[in-house]
Amino acid sequence: MIDQAYVLEALKAVQDPELGKSIVDLGMVHDVAVEGGVVRFTLALTTLACPLRERMMDDARQVLLGHAGIEDVQITLREMTPQEKERIWPKQQAQAQPGGTAAHLNQVDRVIAVMSGKGGVGKSSVAAMLATSLQRQGKQVGVLDADITGPSIPKMFGLHGAPPMGPVGILPAETETGIRVMSINLLLPSEDEAVIWRGPLISGAIRQFWGDVLWGKLDALVVDLPPGTSDASLTVMQSIPLNGILLVTSPQDLAGMVVRKAARMAGHLNVPIVGLVENMSAVICPKCGERIEVFGPSQAAGVAMQLGAPLLAQIPLDPELALRCDAGEVEQYRSVLFDTLAADVARRLPAQRSVPIFT
Ligand code: ADP
Repeated sequence: MIDQAYVLEALKAVQDPELGKSIVDLGMVHDVAVEGGVVRFTLALTTLACPLRERMMDDARQVLLGHAGIEDVQITLREMTPQEKERIWPKQQAQAQPGGTAAHLNQVDRVIAVMSGKGGVGKSSVAAMLATSLQRQGKQVGVLDADITGPSIPKMFGLHGAPPMGPVGILPAETETGIRVMSINLLLPSEDEAVIWRGPLISGAIRQFWGDVLWGKLDALVVDLPPGTSDASLTVMQSIPLNGILLVTSPQDLAGMVVRKAARMAGHLNVPIVGLVENMSAVICPKCGERIEVFGPSQAAGVAMQLGAPLLAQIPLDPELALRCDAGEVEQYRSVLFDTLAADVARRLPAQRSVPIFT
């Protein structure tokens, strides 16, 4: 028999994707009525402008219509009262929370930072593809673009415009496949605006991206670090708790120096380097399949050995990847190499996390 209790029980399967909890447990479902095969209820949202409202309504309809005896679902929307919101975000708790107002609502399982010795080796492309492959493998993924001075992540995912503001923080932008993205580029009046910031400002912005952005429940957050193993990347790494670092190099990189610096940083923070990716390692001739090492022979195996970390992938130059990145379609690029890399990284990331120094 389908009654109010039955409907509430069924709706426990529907989550608020931002908060990572069921809409019933969050007190969002009200006025449930059942008449014949028709179920009606009111969905109270934290804000009527909630960008995920259609998704939650669709999920609720789908769940209920999956039960025999329910033929129609009618949902009325309203905004939560201040008291109802207070129940979700108790004021004192929000204020007492170190690391930002949204931090206590976020459940981020693993955080991986992508680092390179210098700019232009494909660090952001690898970060974007790592996120894309992990998302394809069924994980809920976020990308925190910490490359404050040269943010390229939004462009690769075709994201423009300001991210929506939620009641307790900034909501990340969402890509076509549902990857949540935050970048300084989304907050600037113009995408081309140069950001010339010094260390403390950078760490301030990053801390906000970590603590004031409502990431919700994430299986993995990929952090695109600033290029180089200089102070900027160290500052970022010291501002976010990390499970591991993925190092990206190209055959042209000054490998020895990169390795020493990367190893020093990782040691300083007590974060393991989970692996090395050599990008742009060769060109594969489209006609005969010959592998041409345009930048000379690969040093990756030696670099990995010095690092004491595995060489997880050697990615050739592929014009399609460059085109997709430029066109904002990185999610449509497919490559077994990146899929294998993502699975490897997910498997190797330790559960332990670094403790941020700048809190
Ligand atoms: P970084 O973040 O290290 O500065 P990017 O990821 O922005 O580097 O890459 C620099 C340029 O190289 C971009 O135009 C990108 O599309 C291109 N690129 C990166 N990796 C590859 C690859 N394997 N094949 C072809 N183009 C690539």
